[in-house]
Amino acid sequence: VIEIATLERLHTRFASLDDGEVATYIPELSKANARHFGVSVCDLEGTARQVGDVQVPFTVQSISKPFVYGLALEAHGREAVHARVGVEPSGDAFNSIIELERHSHRPYNPMVNAGAIAVSALVPGASSEERFSRVLEAFSGYAGRTLDVDHSVYQSERSTGHRNLAIAHLLRHFGVISGELDDAVDRYFKQCSVQATAHDLSLFAATLANGGVNPRTGRRMVSREHVRCVLSLMFTCGMYDSAGEWAFTVGLPAKSGVSGGLIVVIPGKLGMATYSPRLDRHGHSVRGVAFFRALAAERDLSLF
Ligand code: GLU
Repeated sequence: VIEIATLERLHTRFASLDDGEVATYIPELSKANARHFGVSVCDLEGTARQVGDVQVPFTVQSISKPFVYGLALEAHGREAVHARVGVEPSGDAFNSIIELERHSHRPYNPMVNAGAIAVSALVPGASSEERFSRVLEAFSGYAGRTLDVDHSVYQSERSTGHRNLAIAHLLRHFGVISGELDDAVDRYFKQCSVQATAHDLSLFAATLANGGVNPRTGRRMVSREHVRCVLSLMFTCGMYDSAGEWAFTVGLPAKSGVSGGLIVVIPGKLGMATYSPRLDRHGHSVRGVAFFRALAAERDLSLF
């Protein structure tokens, strides 16, 4: 158990940390309120301990990646998914395009953009609409409430996401994705634009901590076997090109998003999430990283 007093103390300590910048490359994200800072920790009974701005909605961005990866694993199994995407940390930035040209033409892992776009292409369904409703339905199942897309963020990324479109073109060129290019990349933009709160995301994380069953609703979202895949890749690749440092200092599976969300899982124990929009140079929330580093050190949370 992590007491509310601990969360409050660390929240106060890092609320004054103003380093970093709010993401602007997706124009709509630049409107975020940089003062917002929320912390939510959810146990396996579904009880959340929370401090600060835990009810502020923001787009999940890359925090969507592990959950869509889980969906693809459930639909096709591990072999089929990993025929298209690897399991190695890239050591490059989240939106790197170099990896595709340089090596096997297969994206490194499902947590970087190239891998996530390849995985989005694997969401099953008869039409684009049906495929995206599966994603939304799954995210809502993790949150335990109905979630929806922030259409302005989606449009904003759709009209400026040339790098991701270029990645999708390369993936199509190398045969990693087939069919309509727009289908996969558009779903990727949409999944990134689903709105949730820090409170919701602590339930996403708690579901993974709980072996794939939402602790509040009792609904199984992903098999235990696939939770292991998801958490392993969050551990090695979830923090992009600072994944090594994160593993070394915090030692827990995590995933960040450029809107300022960060989820951390203590398997078998807790799901945690923070929200604060200012980012470091890797694209992670500055306060979120500082908060979890301090918490992990203080409470000896590392898996090792
Ligand atoms: N939608 C963002 C992008 O593709 C997500 C990146 C992130 O959250 O790290 O650039």
